[in-house]
Amino acid sequence: MDAEEFRKHAKMAIDYIIDYNENIRNRQVLPSVEPGYLHKLIPSTAPAAPEDWSVIIPDIERFIQPGLTHWNSPNFNGFFPAGNSYPSIFGEILSAGLGCVGFNWMLSPACTELEVIVLDWLAKLMGLPEHFLAEAPGPGGGIIQGSGSEGILVALLTAKERTVRQIKPLHPNIDEGTVKAKLVAYFSDQSNSAVEKACLLGSVRIRPIKSNPNGTLKACQLKNAIVEDRENGLIPCFVVATLGTTATCAFDDLTQIGSICEAEGVWLHVDAAYAGAAFVCPEYRYLMAGLEYADSLNMNPHKWLLVNFDCSCFWVKDRAHLLNAFTVDRDYLRDHYSEIMRQNWAPNFRNWEIPLGRRFRALKLWITLRMFGESNLRNFIRKQVSMAKRFESKIQADSRFELCAPVCLGLVCFRIVGEEFLTRELLSVVLDSRELFLNGATLHGKYFLRYAICSRDMDLSDVDKGWTIISNATEAVFSRHAN
Ligand code: PLP
Repeated sequence: MDAEEFRKHAKMAIDYIIDYNENIRNRQVLPSVEPGYLHKLIPSTAPAAPEDWSVIIPDIERFIQPGLTHWNSPNFNGFFPAGNSYPSIFGEILSAGLGCVGFNWMLSPACTELEVIVLDWLAKLMGLPEHFLAEAPGPGGGIIQGSGSEGILVALLTAKERTVRQIKPLHPNIDEGTVKAKLVAYFSDQSNSAVEKACLLGSVRIRPIKSNPNGTLKACQLKNAIVEDRENGLIPCFVVATLGTTATCAFDDLTQIGSICEAEGVWLHVDAAYAGAAFVCPEYRYLMAGLEYADSLNMNPHKWLLVNFDCSCFWVKDRAHLLNAFTVDRDYLRDHYSEIMRQNWAPNFRNWEIPLGRRFRALKLWITLRMFGESNLRNFIRKQVSMAKRFESKIQADSRFELCAPVCLGLVCFRIVGEEFLTRELLSVVLDSRELFLNGATLHGKYFLRYAICSRDMDLSDVDKGWTIISNATEAVFSRHAN
């Protein structure tokens, strides 16, 4: 494909994306294909001769579309949102087209500096504590990572390194391996699977803490676990608190947890992957009270802030700990200028993260924040919350159902009153229809369904339509068991 062909065909691709998005309601949200469907349609080897775009584009509709789950459909109400918007897609296209790999400042100063600036913008939009800002006098700052999971792993590895560096001078005869083998991480049984995975990958032993009936971390149990572990010769190292748990959107109490972490000298990481976006609205900031205790924080604009995957923001109170954990130098990697001289504005981000190569993700965040502006971001979040409220009122008005957790932000957790199998059957009837996507979760052994407001285009009529599907499916479940 030469430049002129690209000019022509790229316009076709844009038209395709627009038509897809504007007509997404007409597509069945879940695919009907059987596992292995694509192997039957696509040859098992790459073509020997070049193929023309004109034969490739129809294959997107013929082969790829039937196997898509439409995450941006208003009928997609499982998991959490997969953020998207035209400004963000625009930024993504530019990033691919400009093609810089900005792991050192000099490899594209704009790539690094824009990231530093937009992370400060976002921190201010969300009302985060000042020490996370690069422009603040302290050593804090932010970076865009690929995923929340990556951010949590980065935080864990940083906490691990900090703890080892604290312990070693006090016990010079103990080798590093012995210290590392004693480290412990704490989190509630409601934290995301990414937390346990980070500990698995980082080889840190775990101590999950039983959550309160409302799904929040029990601070007194955390304290007891830390004290007990110390008595047993272990070394408490890392605590994860969640703002907006995946199952029920519960908020851990950062003031209580943070004061324990501070007193115990344990790293506190806050995972606000989904709910962090809500803090652009001042009325939800009470949910992050105590965030000043956090050593690090992650939130995903690629979930609920209209930015397409991948864009996960990560802030740290003191970047020196990150640099200690992640800096590996080679002559071929050295920048011309020392990182210290460039202060907060021009870091070499390769020393803040796991990968070396990095994309220009700040572009799509920058363009999205500019094209929506604070007021429209707030309107978007508020509108989504109002739709969850509409769904909540449907559940409350129907005696066949009960809510399973207080409705917070864009998530409603509900079940059929009675035995668990009824709710499980309801999910399977709904999913078999392929018209609506929900998923199930559990809190303290109680199974329920999650109805999450996801698509940016969802409106009240979509909520009503989803409700009708659920209501009819419930009737079908009841009639199966009528006798
Ligand atoms: N933390 C929470 C609370 C989540 O809900 C999720 C994903 O839904 C994650 C972390 C993982 O985020 P990512 O998919 O960006 O790795």
